[in-house]
Amino acid sequence: MSSLDDFPADDGAAVGGVHIKYFVHCPRQLWLYARGYRPEHRSDRVAFGQVVADTTFTRRRDIDLGEAKIDWVTTGAVVHETKSSRAPSPAHAAQVRHYCLLLERRGISVRGGTVHYPLIRRTTDVPWDDDARMAAEDAETQARNVIAATEPPARLARTGCRGCSYLDYCWGD
Ligand code: SF4
Repeated sequence: MSSLDDFPADDGAAVGGVHIKYFVHCPRQLWLYARGYRPEHRSDRVAFGQVVADTTFTRRRDIDLGEAKIDWVTTGAVVHETKSSRAPSPAHAAQVRHYCLLLERRGISVRGGTVHYPLIRRTTDVPWDDDARMAAEDAETQARNVIAATEPPARLARTGCRGCSYLDYCWGD
């Protein structure tokens, strides 16, 4: 295992959608990710997810905000996110809310979001209103606090780690 000193935190950097998704799933995952520890780049699951995203919708327009790359935005503006997961997750909705927040900060009047799960032919609407904005701002603040921490957050209970690409790091010893 590499020393975590090898991975300085990017706590001064902007918080993107992946940061928020990881924070909601597991703060430890965010902490490791923010230090450049990214085993998901080697993960078959991630590669599979990319294939699903690339082949499900043919008419799409990625929006690259720098700190976040949104799958696509339709008129309105509605933020769309595609997941290869077979189960909707609060982390996915939080990711979409964060994209709504980032767009709104750029002066865009956001209508809401939709998470697409093509493998189970399901969509989940993500409302965008005052409560959602507060939740997004709160998640961003908490994510920054996690990133800035000098020690990694505790591991989740093992059952919460199923499918996580950081399994070897957290449980490999
Ligand atoms: S393996 Fe478990 S504790 Fe480690 S980052 Fe993933 S979810 Fe968190």
